[in-house]
Amino acid sequence: MGDKLAEGKTKEVWSYEGDLVLLRFKDSITAGDGRRKDILEGKGVLNAQTSALLFRLIEGRVSTHYVGMYDERSMIVKKLKMIPVEVVLRNIATGSIIKRLPIKEGERFDPPVVEFFLKSDELHDPLLNYHHMRYLRLMTKEEAEEIERIMYRVNEVLNPFLESKGLLLYDFKLEFGRTNQGELKVGDEITLDSMRVRDAASGRIYDKDLYRSGAPLDMVKKSYAEFLAKISR
Ligand code: C5P
Repeated sequence: MGDKLAEGKTKEVWSYEGDLVLLRFKDSITAGDGRRKDILEGKGVLNAQTSALLFRLIEGRVSTHYVGMYDERSMIVKKLKMIPVEVVLRNIATGSIIKRLPIKEGERFDPPVVEFFLKSDELHDPLLNYHHMRYLRLMTKEEAEEIERIMYRVNEVLNPFLESKGLLLYDFKLEFGRTNQGELKVGDEITLDSMRVRDAASGRIYDKDLYRSGAPLDMVKKSYAEFLAKISR
């Protein structure tokens, strides 16, 4: 490991070799734009493993930053210039969309809904449209449409995979970046912090909504561990 290049709420970026960096998953868990924060010992390892498994699952269908594992909590990834936009795909309505629009919890979207949000804790991640993104020089409409196609392709892999494990993928968030050559790639993480997954039969929640709703920390950790075990089988 070289120098620490950046640190966020749940991950650190460390320099590595050439155009590669390390993404080290911390044990922290946060909610409410970072207003609530806890340490869940071992969570970093669980999320690094979950993320690696899901990146391996989607590679081949879409271009991602994932290269391999450095240690149990660190992924080796291609260095990207990250676009500060969170891109969400929704199969089933829950979360912020049912507060913003006349849509009820549990409504199914066919085709899935894709939304863009500015990454800004200060502004509480406001919704963006193509015009906002062009004006803010975040991405062109053509790039946004390319990203929507990538979101659909990822969903076409993740959704049936999780379904085969008896799980329902409500929604997920991805972040994108560009290589020095200008190639668009999926970056960041794919974990229970960034998607919503429920048991298809019982409706049991596996993801960070447990933490958001104030469940005991050991229950959150157990849920993350059980999810990883389920998708590893
Ligand atoms: O809160 P909302 O319903 O917009 O979240 C949609 C999806 O994006 C959820 O899976 C959530 O975990 C994820 N998300 C995220 N980071 C945020 C906001 C949402 O990973 N800052």
